[in-house]
Amino acid sequence: MGKIAGVEFAPQVVSATRFAPSPNGRLHIGHAFSALCAHDFARAFGGKFLLRIEDIDGTRSRPEHIAAIIDDMAWLGLHPDGAPLFQSQRIANYAAALERLKEKGLVYQCWCTRSEIAEALKQQPVRHGPDGPVYPGTCRGRSGGDGDFCWRLDMEKAVALTGPLSWIDLAAGPQIANPAIFGDVVLWRKDAPASYHLAATLDDATDAISHVVRGMDLFAYTAIHRLLQQLLDLPQPLYWHHPLLLDDSGEKLAKSRASKPLSELREAGESGAAIVAALRRGQLPLGITLSRP
Ligand code: GLU
Repeated sequence: MGKIAGVEFAPQVVSATRFAPSPNGRLHIGHAFSALCAHDFARAFGGKFLLRIEDIDGTRSRPEHIAAIIDDMAWLGLHPDGAPLFQSQRIANYAAALERLKEKGLVYQCWCTRSEIAEALKQQPVRHGPDGPVYPGTCRGRSGGDGDFCWRLDMEKAVALTGPLSWIDLAAGPQIANPAIFGDVVLWRKDAPASYHLAATLDDATDAISHVVRGMDLFAYTAIHRLLQQLLDLPQPLYWHHPLLLDDSGEKLAKSRASKPLSELREAGESGAAIVAALRRGQLPLGITLSRP
């Protein structure tokens, strides 16, 4: 038996978990908790714990944030197995997957700007998904356009091809995957190669991640990842979406909000090991609570 962050797990065969921060800001205590969950899960069941830097967004990723992440992890005493992995070094793999989806006729080019999408949404009934209004499909079936474009998944075709899908969350139980609620998601961005969905799903396969341990805020996205796994013949990991640390207004801690960066605590001489030990005991800093599982 293993108890991690207050959650009891039955014995598992774990090959690897990962902590996958995006280096577009400093890590805060919510990240420390997430890293601790993935780390302790791997250590409890003899798997590897990997650090994957999700630096695909060249405009927002910063080398100083990458350096701080690596230093923060060492300071927290959450030591990854092996060197950090970088998404920016795997673009060819993402491009090859996009090619396969093109060959299957499952993706299409989209030239729409944000304002064109907003305009199109005014003209027709809007469907709302977990990320807001669903893309109205303006470019589906369009053969050419001007300027930059992204690639979108033809969701209807994709779900028709795979049929019903499900996945397992170790805390929440078996789940029906319903990616259709997201509509035609972007898989290759205008401004950055590959979307989070495509890159993270492929990487979890490349890195032989048997258990994806990450925050509850990403729970709904797993339906998209499950669909991509099926379309690209990738293995299906198990998941644990851990509870989130919330601030005093009940909002998840975000890089942009008041939560103090770990690097500041580190530079002020605080002990990372003590912070991790307190989190393990379920002791949270003043004003911070844990979301309900
Ligand atoms: N890079 C994502 C983030 O920082 C996490 C992705 C994941 O764990 O799947 O929110």
